[in-house]
Amino acid sequence: MPDKEWDRPENLPLPVPDEDSLMFWQGLSDGKLLLQTCIECGTKNYPPVSMCCQQFNFEWEDAQGTGSIFSYVVTQQPVHPALKGHTPFLTVIVQLDEGPRITSNLVDGNPENIEIGSRVELHLVELSDEVTLPLFKLCSD
Ligand SMILES: [Zn+2]
Repeated sequence: MPDKEWDRPENLPLPVPDEDSLMFWQGLSDGKLLLQTCIECGTKNYPPVSMCCQQFNFEWEDAQGTGSIFSYVVTQQPVHPALKGHTPFLTVIVQLDEGPRITSNLVDGNPENIEIGSRVELHLVELSDEVTLPLFKLCSD
């Protein structure tokens, strides 16, 4: 599988921000990776949740956008009609340095270059006014 810039299938549905995730998506549109943090216990929730510690008290903290590959899978079959012609592709679970794990894609994904623990950094891809995707790329060093 050659190195290639990530090309998103045109007809793949976009994520739809909801009440819990709106701040997360707004942050990405503003160029920031925000993590929902429980004021009571300090847990950083990803994906954002409605309630933690039986409370609704959250703040949103900037994440560094760095982490390491916790796991990954190479998808060979187009599991959605829009993915026809876009396989194989790589899906990764990134363990952010702040702790939460986020499912994403690599913009420069070549499975031959990837190992569990490979360092990655955030690479934002703006798709619309509402949706900027938090993708990742391998760190160069
Ligand atoms: Zn909590």
